[in-house]
Amino acid sequence: MAQHDSVAIVGGGLIGLATAYALTQQRPSATITLLEAETGLAQHQSGRNSGVLHSGIYYQPGSLKARLCRDGATRLIEFCETHEIPLDRCGKVIVATRDSELGKLNDLYERGNANGLIGLELLEPGALREIEPHVAARGAVAVPEAGVVDFGRVATTLSDLITQQGHQVRTGFRVAAIDRRNGVFRLRAESGDYVEANSLINCAGLHSDRVARMAGANPPVQIIPFRGEYFMMPADRDYLVRHLVYPVPDPRFPFLGVHFTRRIDESVEVGPNAVLALGRHHYRGEGGASWADTKEMLTSPGLWRLARKYWRTGTAEMVRSSSRRLYAAAARKLIPAIESNDLIRGGSGIRAQAVARDGALADDFVIVETEGAVHVLNAPSPAATASLAIGERIAQRLVANRG
Ligand SMILES: Cc1cc2nc3c(=O)[nH]c(=O)nc-3n(C[C@H](O)[C@H](O)[C@H](O)COP(=O)(O)OP(=O)(O)OC[C@H]3O[C@@H](n4cnc5c(N)ncnc54)[C@H](O)[C@@H]3O)c2cc1C
Repeated sequence: MAQHDSVAIVGGGLIGLATAYALTQQRPSATITLLEAETGLAQHQSGRNSGVLHSGIYYQPGSLKARLCRDGATRLIEFCETHEIPLDRCGKVIVATRDSELGKLNDLYERGNANGLIGLELLEPGALREIEPHVAARGAVAVPEAGVVDFGRVATTLSDLITQQGHQVRTGFRVAAIDRRNGVFRLRAESGDYVEANSLINCAGLHSDRVARMAGANPPVQIIPFRGEYFMMPADRDYLVRHLVYPVPDPRFPFLGVHFTRRIDESVEVGPNAVLALGRHHYRGEGGASWADTKEMLTSPGLWRLARKYWRTGTAEMVRSSSRRLYAAAARKLIPAIESNDLIRGGSGIRAQAVARDGALADDFVIVETEGAVHVLNAPSPAATASLAIGERIAQRLVANRG
């Protein structure tokens, strides 16, 4: 039987965990059960990302992304300090490599100021060389508030805090069906095992649209998986990158462009690109292509409309994905000394990008409510940075919903 005040959360990535943690604070009397399909936590987006603490410079002022990124970064810094999780606010530079990008760079600077960022600076090439001597650019913005963090440790710490309060985090429980009777949700695994709860929170990332449908919702978006592939730089060449080096992003896409990241463990990563994946778990070199997922995409009007708009960019990304030489050529635009041999194939992550039926890429976070349930249907970057703020917001909505 469902306890009187019980909440089931689907998804053990950062959003599910942060939501469960926020509920332990806001609704201490509730019984919380978090269900994760994999045998470990944060195995998908939350554990396969760039590990960057975003500052909030990119996002439309007033958008959920802009507000929750700023709020989430502040909370994350405090959380990491309290729990001794590695975090380094090393700062980053966004660089214009062509004169034609200087206008967009200036717009970003203005946008960052409008979003309340502190210490932004427009840099001439000479000043940039003092920060990143190997980067070639026509101009740059220095963003001192950006940094790197160990998101894996954030996830395990959240899980420990949740279970210490007597709640459950169950891994290896893939929710396969959901029904609701007399106000009680029953979430079933394929094994027949089930969990009951009065409230449901769907934080299933790459499967959030499917979980929403299982629960009887009609999601306004479909998840399209975009793989981001990384290369590593060999240790004897990683002096070419001191901190974080980003290009000026193409404003038509929600992705930031191939960048350089000196991670919290000091290794230097290049990427990620953005290629359409043939499955929601189609990681590079790990199998995971799925005919069922591909068929679903091929019958999606949203994807066809998207493809018609961006086929040129999409094709170029796929060609570059299969050629280290072309990837190096793209990386060389930022750091001319990069050679093909400097790139060693690394891991990959898959973004759960929500696409509307008209082919529009959802840019902002999308969180919808149905009776007794909250569904997180688009939580792309910077959702790892913003996770504690997003969790807090979802918990508030649920508390308000249930009174
Ligand atoms: C390549 C890449 C780079 C990124 N870089 C950054 C960055 O540097 N900084 C930043 O802030 N953000 C970054 N992001 C974005 C960030 O990682 C994500 O926005 C965030 O991790 C989303 O968390 P989530 O909990 O919603 O999803 P996920 O981490 O994907 O978690 C969803 C969970 O739900 C589980 N699940 C799914 N279906 C079921 C089911 N039926 N039953 C039970 N469990 C289920 C999955 O197994 C998964 O563990 C990046 C993302 C990618 C892919």
